[in-house]
Amino acid sequence: MDRALVNILGYGVDTFSFDDALNYAGSNPGQIVTINPEMIAAAAKDEAFSKVISDAELVVPDGIGVEIGLKILGHNVKRIPGIELGKALIVKFSNEGKSIALVGAKSEVISKTVENLKNEVPNIKIVYSHDGYFNDDIAIINEITEATPNLVLVALGSPKQEFFIQKLKSQLPNATMIGLGGSFDVWAGVVNRAPEIWQNLGLEWLYRTIKEPQRFKRIFPTLPLFVLKVCKERLFN
Ligand code: UDP
Repeated sequence: MDRALVNILGYGVDTFSFDDALNYAGSNPGQIVTINPEMIAAAAKDEAFSKVISDAELVVPDGIGVEIGLKILGHNVKRIPGIELGKALIVKFSNEGKSIALVGAKSEVISKTVENLKNEVPNIKIVYSHDGYFNDDIAIINEITEATPNLVLVALGSPKQEFFIQKLKSQLPNATMIGLGGSFDVWAGVVNRAPEIWQNLGLEWLYRTIKEPQRFKRIFPTLPLFVLKVCKERLFN
């Protein structure tokens, strides 16, 4: 299976279906980036972050923002929520007898995540887990490397998790690695995802913003600016 990328504001985004992305990630090690408009806006101001995204082995459109942006540019690509791809990867790797490492979230959240995953996926093989509040990246990277996991899930928020994976990648070239934002909080049962109807309507971002109004500053003005830039790209390129 070959990658087929489409371009949005300078970044290549893979056009795989969910199942194809899962299979591709399962057989191709490297960094998976779950891209969204906030990341694209952050990358515009940070060359190092921009390079991390460009160098990723797989870039999936995480939310409705990138899906709409791609549609404006004439590409019909369905969004692949990182939290769902992450869970599907856990199940796939576990069924294949492969091992998993998890890093991120608060100490009680990562413990509960590990406990819940072990109940939900009985054949899971977790060889390493650590909370996401540490100062010495290198020490954690060395510990993960020693555990030689096949799949690494990193939930430190963006762009921290993407930089962390970039550093880990050189030491663990045969692992599949994905940044998962706040997914462990959901898996631990600390935060609820939007009800399915909101998800299906592409309004999970609105639900989260109503629940956590402090998130408003993350989507405004980033989201409308993103749509404007995409329209400009469509009109003038
Ligand atoms: N987090 C962490 N270490 C940090 C900062 C954040 O482990 O230094 C965790 C935090 O506990 C939460 C996740 O990273 O579980 C970030 O969640 P958020 O919903 O902000 O993710 P994003 O929307 O950025 O993908």
